[in-house]
Amino acid sequence: MSEKVSIGILAVQGAFAEHRAMLDGLGADTFLIRQKKDLEESVQNGGLQGIVLPGGESTVQGKLLRELDLFDGIKSRIEDGMPVYGTCAGLILLAKSISNDSAQHLQTMSIVANRNAYGRQLGSFHTEAQFEGIGEIPMTFIRAPYIDKAYDDVQVLSEVDGKIVAARQKNQLVTAFHPELDGDTRVHEYFLNM
Ligand code: GLN
Repeated sequence: MSEKVSIGILAVQGAFAEHRAMLDGLGADTFLIRQKKDLEESVQNGGLQGIVLPGGESTVQGKLLRELDLFDGIKSRIEDGMPVYGTCAGLILLAKSISNDSAQHLQTMSIVANRNAYGRQLGSFHTEAQFEGIGEIPMTFIRAPYIDKAYDDVQVLSEVDGKIVAARQKNQLVTAFHPELDGDTRVHEYFLNM
């Protein structure tokens, strides 16, 4: 990369620090979005080329997005084509609907998410699987969702045991697993190339 890509990482709750460390390591210019002014200042400085929605608790994150008045600003930028990468809870925030929860959040991506899809107790595991365009990568799942249904122009990027765990729709990338925890930078590189 000749010029640094500027990436905002939503930091109201969850695993934002790990994403930041990984993206910094790849030479991106990262900053944390904790409140509305972080988003506005970054846009004014011309410095927002992508956004990361980290793992954590989607219900809490969705509530904070609204309370902190970040919801509309983030949603409209995604709709305007800004690249976004949602992991785990971030996937749930982007989903058009959630099959086992009446909550609805940003709803920008044509996927139906299944929350805590692997069960609450035994829901954390590690595996390796193929990721379209990258190859075999390590995958850590923590009380993860999977994608029940992908429609419109959503491209499925990875499946584990017949369940969709990574997908892309134009400027939107989601993974049900946590590449930021595995020391393998290839999914983050894929995102930076978007
Ligand atoms: N189970 C969480 C939720 O529903 C997601 C878990 C995660 O992000 N690691 O929001």
